[in-house]
Amino acid sequence: MATVFTKIAAGEIPSYKVAENEDYYAFLDINPMVKGHTLVIPKKTETDYIFALDDSTYAGLWAFAKKVSEAIYKAIPCKRVGVAVLGMEVPHTHIHLVPLESESDMDFRKKKLELSEAEFRQIAKSISEEYDKL
Ligand code: AMP
Repeated sequence: MATVFTKIAAGEIPSYKVAENEDYYAFLDINPMVKGHTLVIPKKTETDYIFALDDSTYAGLWAFAKKVSEAIYKAIPCKRVGVAVLGMEVPHTHIHLVPLESESDMDFRKKKLELSEAEFRQIAKSISEEYDKL
């Protein structure tokens, strides 16, 4: 059965798209720790565990995440973009990219931001525009 993230990449479930190429897709986390919290996924595999990916998909995923992180860094005021991989909730490999002002911005236990649809759209647009310039 297709995972929720496979359906997102296929456009069957809506998401706030940030960037994509043939093999990978980036979109805003719906329960963000901070503005610009982004998820990066492979489109063509539903492998649950990132370290179970084949080497080529694994390397490509990180290369794509690197490019997306550059766009986030330009679009969202932050000191740097942090990276995390958990996969405790959705069984489809994904990398969290989180713009950080301080260490406490990367805290998966704290209450998540509640953003309006317009805010999500505006954040996704600003990152996407930076991605398109790279
Ligand atoms: P984890 O699997 O522990 O890395 O957490 C999964 C992440 O995916 C959480 O941060 C969720 O907020 C996020 N998430 C789950 N469903 C969606 C969705 N439909 N759109 C965007 N983000 C989602």
